[in-house]
Amino acid sequence: MLNISGLNEGIVLDHIQAGKSLDIYYHLGLDKLDCQVAIIKNARSNKMGRKDIIKIEGPMENIDLDILGYIDHNITVNIIRGDHIVEKKALKLPQKITNVIRCKNPRCITSIEQELPDVFYLADEKTETYRCMYCEEKYNKNV
Ligand SMILES: [Zn+2]
Repeated sequence: MLNISGLNEGIVLDHIQAGKSLDIYYHLGLDKLDCQVAIIKNARSNKMGRKDIIKIEGPMENIDLDILGYIDHNITVNIIRGDHIVEKKALKLPQKITNVIRCKNPRCITSIEQELPDVFYLADEKTETYRCMYCEEKYNKNV
């Protein structure tokens, strides 16, 4: 049973790969939020051996689930309200990600027009391959 004590309303990210919680903390921009955040590293897990957990106080809107799904879609998102888990969300690879990865093609328009957002779309779910929306440059997240 997941311990959610101290959290009346918020989000608990469970089943984070051990050691990845700080990466996720920064990718989600949690360092820029004023809300209370607790990071638990190397918690014992029956399923994973060791795992990290992040508890975030406050409303769901603080969290970009697309970025989270992109980083690791095996993370479980628990929504807490009134000291109870009211919803568990499964993540999946987002169809489109904006400003998470950069296109490496030097001839891509995003390399020339710096103010354009970097937009990648999911080209192949099985191999977790993304492609730049502008120039089709491939980006495989597992490499
Ligand atoms: Zn590109």
